[in-house]
Amino acid sequence: MRTKDAATHLASLRDGRTVWLRGAPVGDVTSHPAFRNAVRSAAALYDFQAAAENLELMTFAAPGSERRVSRCWQLPTSYAELVMRRRALVAWAETHFGFMGRSPDHVASCLGGMVMGIDVFRAYDERRAAALLDYFRYARDSDLFLTYVIINPQADRSKAAHEQTDEHLTAGIVDEDAQGITVRGAKMLATSAIMANEVFVSCIQPLHKGDERYAVAFSMPMNAKGLNVLSRKSYEEEAGNLFDHPLAGRFDENDSLLYFDDVKVPWERVFVSRSIDMAARQWHATPAHVYQNYQCQIRLVVKLRFLVGVARKIAEVNGILGFPGVREALGQLAAEAGLVEGLVYGMEAKGGMAGQYYVPDRHLLYSAQVLTQQLYGKVAGSLRELAGGGMIMLPSGVEDFANPLLRDLINRTQKSPAVDPEERVKFFKLAWDAVGSEFASRHAQYEMFYSGAGFVTKGHSFRTYDWQAATGMVDRLMAGCDLERELGRLRQGGG
Ligand SMILES: Cc1cc2nc3c(=O)[nH]c(=O)nc-3n(C[C@H](O)[C@H](O)[C@H](O)COP(=O)(O)OP(=O)(O)OC[C@H]3O[C@@H](n4cnc5c(N)ncnc54)[C@H](O)[C@@H]3O)c2cc1C
Repeated sequence: MRTKDAATHLASLRDGRTVWLRGAPVGDVTSHPAFRNAVRSAAALYDFQAAAENLELMTFAAPGSERRVSRCWQLPTSYAELVMRRRALVAWAETHFGFMGRSPDHVASCLGGMVMGIDVFRAYDERRAAALLDYFRYARDSDLFLTYVIINPQADRSKAAHEQTDEHLTAGIVDEDAQGITVRGAKMLATSAIMANEVFVSCIQPLHKGDERYAVAFSMPMNAKGLNVLSRKSYEEEAGNLFDHPLAGRFDENDSLLYFDDVKVPWERVFVSRSIDMAARQWHATPAHVYQNYQCQIRLVVKLRFLVGVARKIAEVNGILGFPGVREALGQLAAEAGLVEGLVYGMEAKGGMAGQYYVPDRHLLYSAQVLTQQLYGKVAGSLRELAGGGMIMLPSGVEDFANPLLRDLINRTQKSPAVDPEERVKFFKLAWDAVGSEFASRHAQYEMFYSGAGFVTKGHSFRTYDWQAATGMVDRLMAGCDLERELGRLRQGGG
């Protein structure tokens, strides 16, 4: 079989899935003006990997099959393999400049991490472990695009899932028989659901006694009967054209609420059922959580490099590059991008074996998560500060260029020491879409929350840091400070 390409992916999305937007069903996501460009950007990932010159970089022969699939499915057994896999993930992220957070490598990384820890599933239930292994092989060998929903709807966060006013708010088991389980309720927040083949559904938040029906993990195709995809507003649809919104117009990966209207899930696709303990262990007792978030940091390195490039260009276009303060600001931004890149290399180098697999260092990963949640808004703020009104003082749209009078005025007023007026407008439209538009604002929210709220990621950092090494040093230093010895010296008239 040939390596998956864009045409194959696009065809797979015309599957009758139920996507809702502005009160109506969407029909074909590959042609709808709210989604088609983002869908094409996602599909382009598969053409990129299938291109002859990229095949070795991007793909590997799936075990037991001749077919080459994305390296995101590869389970590294050494540092060298991890690095090889990372290079493929970087190359994919560069095609979307880091703006597609839930590209196919994200959930593939998560599922791969679960398979690396398959013994944890086996200790829980041999049949569920077998189902997970079978699903992993199916998804890998078909090179599926998976997304996931692993968060419960907000409602009242001070209450457990079963204590909400509607016990069916959060997706949970309402029935079960010899064939499988039936699921009713909602999950947030399915990024990329409109363009994925299947969804992995589970819960990463702590569950409490009484929440057993919500303690599940399962998967299903996006066209499963009863699965409703409730899309948020589309920034792509509002973008209109790629000159005015070069990022929103291409990379609006979408976010949706998923509502499961009594959806049947066969046991072959159920990996955790009614186990609060296993719902938590699947993430943290296996390398899943590390691998999925390691993928995020790799993508973010690419995005930060892009944003630093935008910052430098702002300085060039506005003729401010020579000012010492501006160079300082650019130096700061470059250092911040370098820090995140260094953390990725560090978590790889400091990683270690978990059984037969090589896993990035847990604490350096959580360090990166905590710091980058705070860093992203700061970086965007620095770009705003460098740009001043340049990102706002722009023609209202491409139509202005079609009017000779306005075009003449644009040419007279959009001045730059570095580029012509058209180029200046094009660039500042891009800069605004990167840090100021509604699309950009959603990205700020994404980078703050995709891996959990700040108190969650800081909790992971607290839990995984080597406190013994830190406090041990403090104890060692204090052991050299002896009160009685000092008092003795004092009595002997010493200093
Ligand atoms: C753009 C975007 C894309 C996303 N994509 C996905 C996706 O593809 N799949 C998916 O499953 N999820 C996705 N998410 C959801 C994401 O995982 C959650 O937003 C994140 O885990 C935080 O959960 P929450 O939004 O329910 O916030 P909450 O848990 O409600 O937290 C919001 C704030 O409330 C306060 N708070 C809440 N609880 C506590 C507490 N116990 N202690 C102290 N303070 C508290 C904190 O100030 C916190 O910052 C996405 C989110 C965003 C914004």
